[in-house]
Amino acid sequence: MITVVGSINMDLVVGTERFPKQGETVLGNLHATVPGGKGANQAVAAARLGGQVGMIGAVGTDPFGDELTANLKNKGVDVSGVKRVEGPSGIANILLSEGDNRIIVVPGANHELTHEDIDNCEQAIASSDLIVMQLEIPIPSVLRTIEIAHKNHVPVILNPAPSDGFSEEFLKYEPILTPNESEAAMMFGDKWEQALEAHPNRLIVTLGRDGARYYDGERHVRVPGIRVNAVDTTGAGDTFNGALAVAMAEKMPMADAIRFANAAASLSVEKFGAQGGMPGREETMRRLQ
Ligand code: ADP
Repeated sequence: MITVVGSINMDLVVGTERFPKQGETVLGNLHATVPGGKGANQAVAAARLGGQVGMIGAVGTDPFGDELTANLKNKGVDVSGVKRVEGPSGIANILLSEGDNRIIVVPGANHELTHEDIDNCEQAIASSDLIVMQLEIPIPSVLRTIEIAHKNHVPVILNPAPSDGFSEEFLKYEPILTPNESEAAMMFGDKWEQALEAHPNRLIVTLGRDGARYYDGERHVRVPGIRVNAVDTTGAGDTFNGALAVAMAEKMPMADAIRFANAAASLSVEKFGAQGGMPGREETMRRLQ
């Protein structure tokens, strides 16, 4: 079982010709309400690729809470670890315009996932094959999860996003870290390439269309991305992480696992939406041929 401990949000997407100035109202041209949150996205990506996935997280008592839980269930994710808390679910307000985006995340219920909740899930964490986390839930809860996993020799993939939640304290538990280039620079500074050598097989930096790189203990390895016509890169990193989790749970060697993750992520950028664009197993295997 792959257990994802992380955020569950409703994405409220609004498109407009141009961003409004302060105090101004403009008419928009698109509105969509779609399930998101890095944790839920990564759980769905892994389940779509054939992983057996359970989610630990929190949603609110609002109607979004029902929708978000039903969505995870429909996509094959076990939701017995998703708790319901009084108040609103997490939302991401996503403004799209001028080929760019502006996003406000309001964590809502995600911030009610306490380290006591994590303690209550100790058995599920300890008996998992792999844990997947991001940094959109309270940091003490991330830390508690990683401690339990470490104590029980369960490997952890920590996608350090948003990177301002990253703490050096995580490093002592030796998680597999999967930042993109800007997150790597936030965590390790301009010289992040040197950090690769300090964390052999533990630090995988994703490079957008160029794929990903890591250090295998002897040499630097870059696993090239797959060239595609990208229409929406939202959720590329989430698909990469979900796919990496499936590959690692199946004990694929690192380079093969990253190749699989690049293939899945390249398929996801060819379609609109984060969860909507996530590929299945067959499609991904075909892309690898
Ligand atoms: P994030 O989405 O977290 O910012 P990246 O931009 O590094 O992270 O993308 C994550 C992964 O998604 C990459 O390692 C690659 O496999 C895939 N990917 C992203 N953008 C593209 C693209 N334009 N073409 C093909 N693959 C892509």
